[in-house]
Amino acid sequence: MILLTPGPTEIPGESIEAMSRKAHHRTSEFRKAFTSVVENLHWLFKTKNDILVFASSGTGAMEASVVNLFSPGDRVLICSNGKFGKRFAEITKSYGLNVDIYAEGWGKAINPEMVNEMLKKDTKAVFLTHNETSTGVANDVKAVGRIVKENGSLFIVDTISGLGVMEFETDRWGVDVAVSGSQKGLMAPPGLSFVSLSEDAWESHRHARLPKYYFSFDSYKEKLETGQTPFTPAIPLIFSLEKSLDFIKKSGLENLFKKYSALADMTRERILKMGLELFAERPSSALTSVRSPQNISSRDIVEHMKRKGIVIAGGQGQFKETIFRIAHMGYIERKHIEMCMDALSSVIQNLV
Ligand SMILES: *Cc1c(COP(=O)(O)O)cnc(C)c1O
Repeated sequence: MILLTPGPTEIPGESIEAMSRKAHHRTSEFRKAFTSVVENLHWLFKTKNDILVFASSGTGAMEASVVNLFSPGDRVLICSNGKFGKRFAEITKSYGLNVDIYAEGWGKAINPEMVNEMLKKDTKAVFLTHNETSTGVANDVKAVGRIVKENGSLFIVDTISGLGVMEFETDRWGVDVAVSGSQKGLMAPPGLSFVSLSEDAWESHRHARLPKYYFSFDSYKEKLETGQTPFTPAIPLIFSLEKSLDFIKKSGLENLFKKYSALADMTRERILKMGLELFAERPSSALTSVRSPQNISSRDIVEHMKRKGIVIAGGQGQFKETIFRIAHMGYIERKHIEMCMDALSSVIQNLV
């Protein structure tokens, strides 16, 4: 079976083996692995800012970035062009922030000019999704960042499925808070999440009055200095991620970006040859989203693919049954995409 879903992704054998390593977390052995992980995350995020590591799925770090930086009634602008942008809107609303929403159509990209129009003087922060995994659209983080910084607002970016797959420059693009997770471009198992925090983000944290405990940034920062976490870390996942980051470093980030981009091109060429239609404007190289042929539910396509040993994903939200998604990120090779395309071609022929 091969996983070609936009998270979790396939992971290197060494990362799987590393999970059986035995160690207590208050030991030098664990500290060494944890320190290596944090150091390599700085390299991957391209930042000098602090990076905190949580035992949670990516959504935990999204919520952490809200409860740690704001007070009830703070005005924020959410850029939403899919399920994950919408998630930021749901989180900020549930904590009583004053939420403006720039809602773009699913499959469309966030327009930086519209962000500019919707910003207000008192907009404390702008939230953007780097790679909108529900549709396969990559948003222009750099262009939006320039506009957000001109307004003096904080810039919070969800790069849970973009980091390690496409160019991402935390410091150069003015990203105050970058949120990511272990199970997509990082090629590790699910269960770890990360946030990077600029000086301005820390300043905002000092005045934030929303309640928090498990995710309170202070306690993580304090322990970070000693290569530890305030609560029991997900030890096997840290050992696993250590190996995955080693692999990413050895492969070379630029090489990986090029590889994914070539796999994306190849996938799209084959999809168009099959007479199918692509869904995303400004498509990301993490995944390709495809419209299901008329009268065929993407649920059936996914099911038939699974019987052939290839796991792809259906749509989400209102596109649950009308699109399907094929990821070309993670620990995979060209041959896996070829296998997937051959299988898809025969599944489509049998279903239409
Ligand atoms: C996967 C994903 C999430 C959610 O991550 P979980 O680990 O499932 O909580 C959030 N945002 C984006 C863009 C994602 O791809």
